Amino acid sequence: MAPSPFLSPGPTSQPNSLALLALRRDQLTAINLKDSPDAVTNTRFGSFPHKTLTNVPWGTQVRAYTVHGGHAKGSKKRKRAAGKESGHGKGEANGTGENEEDDDDIEAAATGFAHLVPPTPEAWTVSLPHRTQVVYTPDYSYVLQRLKVRPGDCLVEAGSGSGSFTHAAARAVFNGYGSQAFEGNEMGEKEGDGEDVGRRRKRKKYGHVYSFEYHEPRAKCLQKEIKEHGLEDVVTVTNRDVYEDGFCVEGAEEPKANAVFLDLPAPWMALKHLSRSPPEKLDLSIDQQNGDARTWRSPLDPRRTVYLCTFSPCIEQVQRTVEAMRQLGWVDIAMTELLHKRIDVRRERVGLQEEGLRGVNANPATVEEAIERLREVEARTSRFFEAQKESKSSKGAKEEADPLKAEVKHEATRMKPLSKKQRLDTIKEQVKERKIWKEGRLVHRTEPEMKTHTSYLVFAVLPRSWTQEDEENAAREWPTNV
Ligand code: SAM
Repeated sequence: MAPSPFLSPGPTSQPNSLALLALRRDQLTAINLKDSPDAVTNTRFGSFPHKTLTNVPWGTQVRAYTVHGGHAKGSKKRKRAAGKESGHGKGEANGTGENEEDDDDIEAAATGFAHLVPPTPEAWTVSLPHRTQVVYTPDYSYVLQRLKVRPGDCLVEAGSGSGSFTHAAARAVFNGYGSQAFEGNEMGEKEGDGEDVGRRRKRKKYGHVYSFEYHEPRAKCLQKEIKEHGLEDVVTVTNRDVYEDGFCVEGAEEPKANAVFLDLPAPWMALKHLSRSPPEKLDLSIDQQNGDARTWRSPLDPRRTVYLCTFSPCIEQVQRTVEAMRQLGWVDIAMTELLHKRIDVRRERVGLQEEGLRGVNANPATVEEAIERLREVEARTSRFFEAQKESKSSKGAKEEADPLKAEVKHEATRMKPLSKKQRLDTIKEQVKERKIWKEGRLVHRTEPEMKTHTSYLVFAVLPRSWTQEDEENAAREWPTNV
């Protein structure tokens, strides 16, 4: 298995592989880095030629360029000087030490930069092309931990949608690249049911996600993405209607899943296929079309407890799902609603203690205090200007005895900004006294733009099947004295 940039990105970005440009904290653009001198990604912050983005250590700040020769974005005026001055020329960005002068067709733009980051499911969720509503990071991280998904596990998912959950699940089940024993040499060899032996063993070795999607174009898009992202040994995307056809694919071994995630409009219609034994109403008679006896296979691992989660936006859907779960023997049924908020907690920075020196107060503690101080400053300022006016009109008055003159002088001293030296001395003094920053209060505010989509999560557990043989083994292992 060739390393996937999602599972093992390595230290630098590689040509013909996925990378992400972080333009802002929550704004990422996915790029398939092309090994071509003409490949450019244009963003609102400028143009990024792929040759400046390949073989770059992850996390590097890369500059935007003005590209000539048909790919120009922004001004064509030479801005080379600006690029050099700021020390972010191409040579620095691509880590090759190559001089920017060597390339005539690109120039560093005066503004615009981004950070090059490796692909992760979280970054992919933010940047992926939306074909449907997607499951966001706060939801899928909670779901995966409640499903107890671990490396080597097998997870069944429907529907695949845009593949947001699929990528997170692939990383969660991935068991590491490990030994090379299964690489290549067994591929092509077939087992009784016609499935490739090498592929089957890889699936068991790496862990696997079986993803089902009934909308054909969506399924095809995801199959392509999974291949491009080097995840085809960890994820199998199948185009099918799981309400009708369930989760076992003809000609392939049943998934033997120990975790299931259903993001479907009617999860209860798929539940009948997720049981230990055939549903009561299932017709297992001879198929009239091909003459074979109809068979039924469970997609679940018979030797393990299976954890299930369904994701539904309305309570009526939850009620129908829970009803079906109860009928089919699922236990520990519980519903959770995630109301995720990002809260920015910080200590208030009170600032330099220049109060009294410049006549400008340090940060007020309350709104009332702020208003009071604002009024104080305004009153003092207007007194200052009135006093100045008065003083001009009363030229004859004796200076020393004049209270207005005294007020003007006093206010002028208070309002006058400190000189650079005075400010430095003040700061030094305060550093010595260790009171540069007052200890502010802990404050918090919620950030409004947290992306998640409100749904109800229903969790349930299906105990492992218990056969006569299990009973006998248990009796042998733990004999009772009764
Ligand atoms: N979980 C996905 C993600 O994170 O990107 C989003 C799933 S989207 C909300 C629901 C998907 O279920 C749609 O793409 C829809 O085509 C698919 N779907 C609906 N009914 C289905 C069925 N009977 N069998 C398989 N897929 C189905």
